[in-house]
Parts: sequence; structure tokens; C-alpha cells
Amino acid sequence: MKILVLNCGSSSLKYQLIDMASENALAKGLVERIGIAGSRLVHQKDGEGKVTVEAEISNHDVAVKLVMDALMDVGHGVIGDISEIGAAGHRVVHGGEFFTASALVTAEVKKAISDCVALAPLHNPANLIGIEACEKLMPNTPQVAVFDTAFHQTMPEKAYLYAIPYSLYDKYKIRKYGFHGTSHKYVTDRAASMLGKPIEKLKLISCHLGNGASVCAVDGGKSVDTSMGLTPLEGLMMGTRSGDMDPAAVAFIMDKEGMTTKQMENLLNKESGVLGISGVSSDFRDIEAAVEKGDAKAKTALDMYHYRVAKYIGSYATAMNGVDAVIFTAGVGENGPETREAICEYLGYLGVAVDAEKNKVRGKERDFSADSAKVRSLVIPTNEELVIARDTLALCKK
Ligand code: AMP
Repeated sequence: MKILVLNCGSSSLKYQLIDMASENALAKGLVERIGIAGSRLVHQKDGEGKVTVEAEISNHDVAVKLVMDALMDVGHGVIGDISEIGAAGHRVVHGGEFFTASALVTAEVKKAISDCVALAPLHNPANLIGIEACEKLMPNTPQVAVFDTAFHQTMPEKAYLYAIPYSLYDKYKIRKYGFHGTSHKYVTDRAASMLGKPIEKLKLISCHLGNGASVCAVDGGKSVDTSMGLTPLEGLMMGTRSGDMDPAAVAFIMDKEGMTTKQMENLLNKESGVLGISGVSSDFRDIEAAVEKGDAKAKTALDMYHYRVAKYIGSYATAMNGVDAVIFTAGVGENGPETREAICEYLGYLGVAVDAEKNKVRGKERDFSADSAKVRSLVIPTNEELVIARDTLALCKK
């Protein structure tokens, strides 16, 4: 079966068509600037160069139609007819407490996704629009929703509750949900294969270090704690997000600067993190280049970043009373040997030890632990699309 995987953002749409027999992506691409001037689709057939289609893409319906056209194009296409797509799998950011697993899309499922809009106002509406655009074009094709939050629904109460009046949890479901679930699931499954042990017997700490970043404690294959919370702002310092801080500072800054809630949210989500501290960039390549040139604030930003990731790893080793392997994934985790080494330097007491030669790797699976290490250090490129496609296939078979 061929499965179309879609990840709809408010103004973008990423897609892959995956052949489930081989689990290979036949084609992938990105639609950018939906509803904005200069919109375009960049499409790539497996093993070939990128093709750019400049077009006015006024909404997600047009974007999905353009994706279908690209997939069926006589030149760069990979299917002859839309009916060759057996199912569509959609990334949905927030499933609240409704979803502990992926779900076949029905009217009730769409209602539940819609009920979670308040928890993910930027993402869930776009995810729903993507689902509905596909329903219009492929009314008889099954659609599956795969949630970033579902993997973390195994967290115990002591991990997901905030220490605020319980009535706020009752009333609004204010609690930690966690994100990047498909990524943490994929890399921890791969880690078990690499280590040659059943996942049920492993205590793993997965560090998804991309533009957004989160750490997850996975005990016996189940998420038992994770650094992101009610929203993807909590936890690690990120490209532009603050991560953890004293909540009292928020009220203090708003008072002093006369800021509205929206302005404060913007500051914490878009102007903070390594960008906020360095004043240079949110991109780690720019930060590392600035450090090379002697930029002190860029150095402080990197030092803070490493320190904070290491602290989470330490706390999750405590949460699980041990750890067998630490996994690094996503943009920075997969491509930043310096970042991995700097984080691992804090973890000698746990039994983490790095082989500097083996750590010289970008974007490939590798155990980069020193022979003496008691805890393995692994680089594992994530593949969220494959998890979405696998879940979609499994639900279609049911
Ligand atoms: P992601 O959100 O997973 O796409 O990750 C994006 C982040 O990965 C950006 O901050 C990039 O700076 C970072 N990144 C990508 N390539 C590299 C690299 N070669 N070295 C360091 N960071 C990288």
C-alpha cells in the first residue's frame, strides 16, 4: 500500500508518499507560504533532483490539490492515479487526553481535535484543515490522525500534574502533555534494535534537539516523563523558546514592560532561547560560527543549552532509577557532534563516555560510546513520517 503522510502547518505543508512494502519514500516535498505572496511547492522524487512549482496557493485545499498533481505528474510524479494512494496519515499536534494512540478519522475524532484547539491554537486548526482538504479530494480513502501527544499519555499522574490547584486540571485539563511523541517512539524503538535488547527491558533517554527540543524518559517502551508541557514552550531552552523559567518572572516582565498576554507569549516563543541570549540567530550553525569568532553571548547561549539538556538527562535517570542509553536526534542532535560531546561531558558520573572519533558522524545511526562506557550514547536520525505511515497502515488493516 502507498500511504500519503501530511504535516500541515498554518502556512506550510510537508508531505511524503511512502511505499509500505519497502517503507521507502517514493517522493517528498514541501508547500510553503500558503495564503501568502510567493507561495510555492518544492517536490522531489526519490533519487532525483528537486522541482519547484511557483503558483498562487491561496489555501490548504489548493495546496493539497497541488501535491496530488505533483505526485501524478508525468515527469516527476510517482503514481498514475489518485486511487493508488491507499490511505493518508496526518500529523496532529495536540490530542489532549482524548487520544492515547492514533485514530482513524471520523466525525467524533475531528470534533475531539477541534476541542483541543485551545491547547494548540497554531497547530490543530491547520491539521484539521489538512484532513478536510484530503477528505474532499479522496472521499473514499481512509484518513488517520497521529498525535504528537499520544505517546506521552502513559506518563503517571505525578509526572504530568502541575502543582497548582487541582480544580484547574478538572476545569481546563491544565497538565503536562508532551510533544514530539512520534519521534521519541521511533528513536527508542531503533535504539532497542541497535542494542539488540527488547525495549521492555530498557531505560532510555531520548533527546530530540531540533528547532523545537524535548527530552523524554522511556522506561520499558513507555514515556514516563518528558520536558515539554501543556504547550511546546516548557522544558529545554530552544532556538527561539525560553523553556523553563520562574513563572513569577512572566508577570514581573509584563508589569514592567506594559506587555499584553499576546506580546508576552510572542517574547517567550519567538524572541527567547538561544536567539534571545545570543542576539545572533536561532540556528545552531550560526551560533557555532559566532562562537568561533569569539562572540561571548553566543558562547553563553551554547553553554546554557548544553547545561540544561544535561540537567534533564540527569533528572530522567533519577526518574527511571537508571539509564541504559542516551539518544540524540533531530537537526542539532543528528548533526552536531560538538553539542553531543558538550552534553555528554556532564554525564560521566552516570557512566556515559564518548569516543571522539566515533562521534564524528552526521545524520547516520551510530553508537558513539567509548568502550569503557556503562551507558551507551547513540545518534539516531528520526523518521516521524515513517511512524505516521506505520500507524496509518496498522489502523487501515484493522
Ligand atoms: P529540526 O527542527 O530538526 O529541523 O532542526 C533544526 C536545527 O538543526 C537548526 O537549529 C539547525 O541549526 C540545526 N542543524 C542543522 N544542521 C546542523 C549542523 N550541521 N550542525 C549544527 N546544527 C545543525
